Amino acid sequence: MARKIDVLVIGNGPAGNNAAQAVRRTAPDLSVLILGEEAHPEYSAPALADYLAGELDLAGVTVNSFADYARRGIQLHLGDGAAAIDPAAKLVTTESGEQFQYGKLILATGSFAVRLRRMPGTNLPGNFVMRTLDDVDAIAAYPAKQAVVVGSGAIGLEGALALKQRGYEQVTVVEALEWLSMKSFDKPTSDRVAAALHRHGIQVYAGEGVQQVEGDTRVRAVRTAKRTIPCDLVLWGVGMRPQNTLAQQAGIALGELGGIRVDDRMQTSLPDIYACGDCVETTDRLTGKPAMNMFWEPAARSGQVAGTNAAGGQAEFNGSVALFLTYIGDDCPVVAVGRTEQDLQGSDYQLLEDEHHGAYRRVLLQGDRVVGAQLVGTLEGFNLLLDQIQKQAPADLLLPERQEAGRFPALQLGLAVYLQQLQSRTGRGGPATLRK
Ligand SMILES: Cc1cc2nc3c(=O)[nH]c(=O)nc-3n(C[C@H](O)[C@H](O)[C@H](O)COP(=O)(O)OP(=O)(O)OC[C@H]3O[C@@H](n4cnc5c(N)ncnc54)[C@H](O)[C@@H]3O)c2cc1C
Repeated sequence: MARKIDVLVIGNGPAGNNAAQAVRRTAPDLSVLILGEEAHPEYSAPALADYLAGELDLAGVTVNSFADYARRGIQLHLGDGAAAIDPAAKLVTTESGEQFQYGKLILATGSFAVRLRRMPGTNLPGNFVMRTLDDVDAIAAYPAKQAVVVGSGAIGLEGALALKQRGYEQVTVVEALEWLSMKSFDKPTSDRVAAALHRHGIQVYAGEGVQQVEGDTRVRAVRTAKRTIPCDLVLWGVGMRPQNTLAQQAGIALGELGGIRVDDRMQTSLPDIYACGDCVETTDRLTGKPAMNMFWEPAARSGQVAGTNAAGGQAEFNGSVALFLTYIGDDCPVVAVGRTEQDLQGSDYQLLEDEHHGAYRRVLLQGDRVVGAQLVGTLEGFNLLLDQIQKQAPADLLLPERQEAGRFPALQLGLAVYLQQLQSRTGRGGPATLRK
């Protein structure tokens, strides 16, 4: 007999949890159940690197305890993934054969880490990814002292630092592209991040792709076009992809980038089925184009929208912005948000760049709007920039005659002053140059 649930949520990450909580807030009489393939209550993926480093214990990464779910009236079915959706019968069947009859369904299945399975040696013991708590437990339990981290996105950089902090003797980051985190950083930002990694004893090789993992019974080395790097563990951070298999099998339309296609209410192409979080394709607020911005904030926010609408309320999702935030050690924050200079090639833009006392800032403007910011070693002004980038309101406050006190809200005046300070420190003397 199928168990009847008003709103069934598949996926126990931030999107699924925010969706379930929104259902309870919007319509407290509706029953809600979260079905999750992992056995743990919700934990924080952004905190996994600190867990690997040994800085946080299990309680430290746990976001919701079982008691929290019970207190909110959210039912759980964990450790048993959804295997199939029958949209006509409104039925979900799990791996173990349990069945749930839903009124509304919310897909919050997240993403999976890319593995280069066809490359020689990638099936040897010693190859890992870092997506789940179980992945990190497996890395921690594996006997190794030398690691190669492949890929330099946030997960690669955080993983490298965590392994070093765990006591690894040697940690090397290998990046196939010309510089680190090329989607988020311009070259000058990458250079400063690489220097910060070196200070923490991490070797960085950019511009050389891994060709093979060597070893007989376990990983022994990684070979790139230029060198062989001895190691006993490889951590793959070469990208995340939307977990869309269930949706695809149920006949739900996907977008051009492979994420589940949703409208502004997070409704999929099928009636009574919503989707949210890393598994959906959203619109990038800066480019207006479809994007897979797989970050915690849009996952949680889109979950709230999906849950509210599934429960009969009204909410809309207004797109996402790419945001990279990490720390290279305690003293060196690194943030990158919005567009890069690389990405703006061919269009008119203004670059403001400033460096002093180990703090590097790079702000990109297009016309009267801030469209990107990269900061290394400081967070000064970041909230203002982020706010401006997210709102995409004109930053025409750079014009001196428009800066009298009281004319603009404090926040915007703050941004204007901040940008002017940057402008005066660009080192180019006077206003920043306009590049095309
Ligand atoms: C190591 C790491 C560090 C990160 N650091 C940051 C950061 O610093 N800042 C930031 O903004 N973002 C960060 N992220 C990204 C952020 O964690 C994700 O964007 C966010 O977790 C997405 O939430 P979600 O609920 O959509 O998906 P997920 O958190 O992936 O949750 C989806 C859940 O659905 C489950 N699931 C999948 N298929 C099924 C199925 N068939 N049946 C049942 N359950 C299923 C999965 O097992 C998973 O538990 C990080 C991610 C990782 C892995």
